[in-house]
Parts: sequence; C-alpha cells; structure tokens
Amino acid sequence: MAKVAPFHSSKPGTEKHHDNDACTEGNNIEASNRVAGKGGLPLCDHCARL
Ligand SMILES: [Zn+2]
Repeated sequence: MAKVAPFHSSKPGTEKHHDNDACTEGNNIEASNRVAGKGGLPLCDHCARL
C-alpha cells in the first residue's frame, strides 16, 4: 500500500476523497470518474486507517 495524491469521484453523491492506492473504495472509482484533488471532501475512513 502507498499514499498517493488525493483523488475523488466525479459521481454525484461522492462524500469523501481517497489518498491510498490500497483502498478498495478508491480503486472502485472508474478511471473516467476519477478526479485529482480532495474536492473539499473529508478523507475516506478506510484510507485513514491504511
Ligand atoms: Zn479511500
């Protein structure tokens, strides 16, 4: 696992951003919906534990 640059999903209803490439939720974001940056969203709980 590794920290990566913050990213989030462009999908409506997105409530958090991710910063770890081992996060399954983050990895579930399709490349086409993946947006760089935090987007003003809190860090994902799963990423926070990694
Ligand atoms: Zn995450």
